[in-house]
Amino acid sequence: MFGGPDEMPAADRPAPPDRAADRVRVLLPLPLPGAYDYRLPPDVPAGPGDYVEVPLGPRRVVGVVWAEGGGGIEDGRLRPILRRFDVPPMPEVQRRFVDWVAAYTMAPAGAVLKMALGSAAGLEPPRPVTAYRLSDAPRPPGFKATPARRRVLEILSDGPPRGAAELALEAGCGIGVVRGLADAGVLEPVAMRVSEARRDPDWALPGPVLSGPQRDAAQALRAKVRAGDYGVTLLDGVTGSGKTEVYFEAVAQALEAGRQVLVLLPEIALSAQWLTRFEARFGAPPDLWHSDLTPHQRRTTWRAVATGQARLVVGARSALFLPFPDLGLIVVDEEHEGAFKQEDGVIYHARDMAVVRAHLGRVPIVLVSATPSLETVANCEAGRYERLDLPSRHGNAVLPEIRLIDMRADRPERGRWLAPSLRDALARTLEGGEQAMLFLNRRGYAPLTLCRACGFRLQCPNCTAWLVEHRLAGQLRCHHCDHCVKLPDSCPSCGTGGSLAACGPGVERVAEEAAFLFPEARIAMMTSDTLFGPHAVEELVRKVTGHEIDLLIGTQMMAKGHHFPLLTLVGVVDADLGLQGGDLRATERTFQLLSQVAGRAGRGDRPGTVFLQTYMPEHPVMQALLDTDRDAFLASEARERIAAGMPPYGRLAALIVSGEDMEAVDAVARRLGRTAPRMDAVQVLGPAPAPFALLRGRHRRRLLLKAPRGVQVQSLVARWLDQVPVPGSVRVQVDVDPYSFL
Ligand SMILES: [Zn+2]
Ligand SMILES: [Zn+2]
Repeated sequence: MFGGPDEMPAADRPAPPDRAADRVRVLLPLPLPGAYDYRLPPDVPAGPGDYVEVPLGPRRVVGVVWAEGGGGIEDGRLRPILRRFDVPPMPEVQRRFVDWVAAYTMAPAGAVLKMALGSAAGLEPPRPVTAYRLSDAPRPPGFKATPARRRVLEILSDGPPRGAAELALEAGCGIGVVRGLADAGVLEPVAMRVSEARRDPDWALPGPVLSGPQRDAAQALRAKVRAGDYGVTLLDGVTGSGKTEVYFEAVAQALEAGRQVLVLLPEIALSAQWLTRFEARFGAPPDLWHSDLTPHQRRTTWRAVATGQARLVVGARSALFLPFPDLGLIVVDEEHEGAFKQEDGVIYHARDMAVVRAHLGRVPIVLVSATPSLETVANCEAGRYERLDLPSRHGNAVLPEIRLIDMRADRPERGRWLAPSLRDALARTLEGGEQAMLFLNRRGYAPLTLCRACGFRLQCPNCTAWLVEHRLAGQLRCHHCDHCVKLPDSCPSCGTGGSLAACGPGVERVAEEAAFLFPEARIAMMTSDTLFGPHAVEELVRKVTGHEIDLLIGTQMMAKGHHFPLLTLVGVVDADLGLQGGDLRATERTFQLLSQVAGRAGRGDRPGTVFLQTYMPEHPVMQALLDTDRDAFLASEARERIAAGMPPYGRLAALIVSGEDMEAVDAVARRLGRTAPRMDAVQVLGPAPAPFALLRGRHRRRLLLKAPRGVQVQSLVARWLDQVPVPGSVRVQVDVDPYSFL
């Protein structure tokens, strides 16, 4: 398991060959084994780190000059570099980072470089952007000033022109509102250069008043940023303790020193409130980096980072690969989140790789969580990471009271999912004019549809998975591939009409029950199926904050970050759900998720209560939640993992063999099983069919290598793979430090 950057020896890079002045090695963003030699024409001066365009077969490809050229290819066959882009070279630290990540994750360096290039279009000088200001023209007849429109106009009434996306973000409305105002002639477009359109965050603005413990932690972090050297600090505090305000002080310090800052968040789209807080603190929005950016936004942000204009970037995990020339601080918020692990392409953990990036760049990094991962806690205990505690909630807020509902005794009626005691509590909360939340981490209406006549279960043809009914959309969907069908009228197996029955609850079904129980309540759902894009989330969050919603029902999308002062009751419909997977981190993840959900209750002046519906009230997770004794829980988790030699006290690497031809997949998997490393203390489990033995039409087999901490698993796995020929129809993926076992 990842134990800090010192654990990994330097990448096995070949010694630099003899210098040849007119040739360079260029790394291409393609899954190729290494960099290629190209000739450097006299009129194209390019050195290490420069972005260049080179021929590759019949194509032209953008690459990065990785090193001086070696021999190997005779001069006559060498093809020339076509052009060099006018943008600062990729910093040396970034290139070492690409090599490091490639070596650690056993991915081709070119595949990692692809993430670092982010947007090749950013290499070209930016075109002017369109910003908007208020028009002097009179309002057109029939103009309707909706609340959203009014917010846009208000923002522009005393401020500089802004781009449509930024205006929409600030006003908390869709971009269509801004466009509509422009079409109506109320706003007037102005062309601005990108650099003019930027507003830098202002570190000198006064921050909020901090409590004693917050101030101490903030000062400690500021000192680390001033010292400007590598060090990992865990900022550990319960939900609502004001961790964000504390690390904002470290951010301010880094900005004051004129350096760049990277804040990683698990799912950027969900953090509209974070952005509002950032802007309130620093007077300008941060630069964003996530998968929902428009090509234009990607281009400008990438370039602004590369040129050093972007002072602060907040982004999802791929932001880590942006070419910061002067990074002075990294913050990883919600460091325990599984979403930091990328599971396809280059399989890496962004939190762990962020620590490596900080180490290579000699800068401090702050990991932030209310429920830190066992990995991070173990690194603190081993003295590799430091720890700062924020012991209590900020202001008047106290931690919510946790109650377990034993579903074996306090049973819901048949076909219902809410226990009588939870129903009563909901009724009291809503009558008292407070808000409530029901949490069920399961999308759709019902997780399983089965035939009452013959017992047939509706399954995805491409995956080992049931089809999930989405009643609002009138569909059955597979949550693992794109397969979706209309709910059939009769059983596909026995042909009986009207025999299909929904089994178990999804979040839509809970919403149906709540609407039946509380017809007067204003109910809203918060799931990825009902909200599209950050603006929809933002709009809903605004409604909840403004008490236009009484009861919020949703999935884990709801669990994070949001701060609803009037919300005093949280009901968890199925607290046992996450424990069913049974993998290494099932209990840890369940504890983290439920703590996070529970943390939504009672964040204002009124105390909160959390009800957990469980069939296993005696389970250690439920008992730990009941006692809010996180450290005892972590200690017992640690004891079990030590006894089993499991991460973070041992190392794992998974091989996933997949392909459409089951026999070919099995042949490779068996051969890997036979050639598995045989060493003391190293154990190889499998091959075995993966829990998803069929996924998106591909058959899957897994092998798992387990080794003590000191073993460098990468070289072991590399030697192992070298012995097994793999036909083109079969893929073998390596997952170092796996988090998913599916
Ligand atoms: Zn049937
Ligand atoms: Zn499927």
